[in-house]
Amino acid sequence: MNISKSEELFSRAQQSLPGGVNSPVRAFKSVGGNPIFLQKAKGAYLYDVDGNQYIDYINSWGPMIMGHAFEPVVEAIQKKAMDSTSFGAPTELEIETAELIKSMVPNVDLIRMVSSGTEACMSALRLARGYTGRNKFIKFEGCYHGHADSFLVKAGSGVATFNIQTVPGVTAGVSADTLTAPYNDLEAVKKLVAENKDEIAAIIIEPVAGNMGCILPQEGFLEGLRKLCDLEGIVFIFDEVMTGFRLAQGGAQERLKIDADLVTYGKVIGAGMPVGAFGGKFEIMKHIAPLGNVYQAGTLSGNPLAMIAGYTLLSHLKSNPFIYAELEQKGEYLKNGLQKVLEESGQPFVINHMGSMISVHFSDKPVVDFATAASANNTFFNKYFHGMLDRGIYLPPSAYESWFLSHALSKEDLDRTIEATKKNVTSGQF
Ligand code: PMP
Repeated sequence: MNISKSEELFSRAQQSLPGGVNSPVRAFKSVGGNPIFLQKAKGAYLYDVDGNQYIDYINSWGPMIMGHAFEPVVEAIQKKAMDSTSFGAPTELEIETAELIKSMVPNVDLIRMVSSGTEACMSALRLARGYTGRNKFIKFEGCYHGHADSFLVKAGSGVATFNIQTVPGVTAGVSADTLTAPYNDLEAVKKLVAENKDEIAAIIIEPVAGNMGCILPQEGFLEGLRKLCDLEGIVFIFDEVMTGFRLAQGGAQERLKIDADLVTYGKVIGAGMPVGAFGGKFEIMKHIAPLGNVYQAGTLSGNPLAMIAGYTLLSHLKSNPFIYAELEQKGEYLKNGLQKVLEESGQPFVINHMGSMISVHFSDKPVVDFATAASANNTFFNKYFHGMLDRGIYLPPSAYESWFLSHALSKEDLDRTIEATKKNVTSGQF
């Protein structure tokens, strides 16, 4: 495959962007090789600057649930742009977007729009602290909640990919309030709560984790956390930046039938525009400024282009619920196909999957938390990644990321992916 233009651009990019990129995992540093520079995308396909086509399993890390350049969204943005790209003042569209979101997801009386998943999680944590008057919180090893200081302790995604143990610049003082437990280990959380009685403001979790590969909550885990939070007056925060509007219209809350106190959103909620949001019950949300004194603000929050993109995509999802059933079928089909060819290969593997989130770990034991994800053969994954890329399949460049399916994927695309895996892994011809 010719990637000479991408190589040229990567050399040039490194002269003016740190590591040649604006977000670390994009640099392919851990998998090796050269990042692909993209030109355009349509539906399930990406096209790079050298004219190569790829089937996309990143989908901008989640937002493009209908595939790329989804026409209703593109048209709505174009039309809206004619009325100005930003006001920094209230618009009716913000109310309509909030009303739409409230009609789709449980437990949201009030919602505040921000511009990224990081901001959503950072603000939800501040709110939980302000509401409870407590400082500490619990997160799970291998979960990623954005790059705010407090969350960069035992974090997943790029922090895990690059094996960064301590992030320079995050002070020990800040990290001291971040307590961590292994994912799926309810007893460890109970112990932390007992040791820090009346000091824990929040437990934040990816209800289905996607930042150490895809990892599912085991039966009783989230239910146990919910009960514990109720008993101890702890705010239970679902980070639904990945799972929101993806695992179901109402996200993981709906799908897993667990109520969160605060929920954070990103990705699908903005249809690929820079959007995040946090919301919850009035009782907690009333503490956010200007209702209360927990301060949070944003020049571009509720930006008209971001709102119209999200509003258009979410309305489409709401009025076409069959999309979720079809995403489910696509996920199941891919899982079954991969399972079959990987079994034939004799290579130990684990596929974790829920709906349109899926990942493959090359491991001989179940992958249920960060330790088991880290003990998989990730060197083999890196070779698998490059073998797939060479065959026109664009997977996330790290075993510590979930793959995201879009509704634009056809059966032929899924078959091509399964076939590529077969050739790749069975023959060892990376
Ligand atoms: N939470 C989760 C679960 C995420 O996956 C991410 C990003 N991958 C974030 C928060 C941060 O979102 P953003 O990159 O938009 O700041």
